[in-house]
Amino acid sequence: MKIHKVDLEKTVAYPDQYPTSHYPEFALSGRSNVGKSSLINAILNRKKLARTSSSPGKTQTLNFFNVNDDLYLVDVPGYGYAKVSKKMREKFGQMIETYLESREELKGMILLMDSRHKPTQDDVAMYQYAKYLNQPLLIVATKIDKVKKSQWNKVVKNFKDTLELDESDDLILFSSEKKYNIDALWQWVEDKKNN
Ligand code: GDP
Repeated sequence: MKIHKVDLEKTVAYPDQYPTSHYPEFALSGRSNVGKSSLINAILNRKKLARTSSSPGKTQTLNFFNVNDDLYLVDVPGYGYAKVSKKMREKFGQMIETYLESREELKGMILLMDSRHKPTQDDVAMYQYAKYLNQPLLIVATKIDKVKKSQWNKVVKNFKDTLELDESDDLILFSSEKKYNIDALWQWVEDKKNN
């Protein structure tokens, strides 16, 4: 996808603040430090549009990135801060739940998980929640540049087995660092955009 215009249009906490332009939206979610900000910056070809984990004052809002006046990428705050695994309902604030469960413009969810480890309990809970929402799903295994190529098949197998992925789910190996599979991610978005 050619990016000719992008901006962080809105940081939002309440439904009455959601954008009103009715572009299709794609939610990006994952544990803190998974590489979400880096991915957003990489796919939008901007260095510092999304704030990385190390940024001070990273706020817990829904961040709507307007891409080409054509769609929104919605950065959903990271989960998995709590050491003890609790129910999804507790982990995901009311703000996120309200958005994901009621937003008509939402056309798919992109779930980020670190390729260096098996999906965690939080990752599995997020996946199951996304399935419950019945949204098209793209699982992105981040930081694949940190994994030897000879192990990539094992990453795929670990993800498939641990999450118990089904046929309708898509999975890509991704690296912001190496700009690997950016096109594949956009292709998925394009495919789901008009559904
Ligand atoms: P966020 O909390 O999910 O937004 O994560 P960040 O984007 O801030 O990334 C967390 C850390 O992982 C930072 O130190 C990044 O430099 C690093 N990181 C993110 N993406 C990649 C990647 O594709 N490859 C490598 N090697 N490191 C990455």
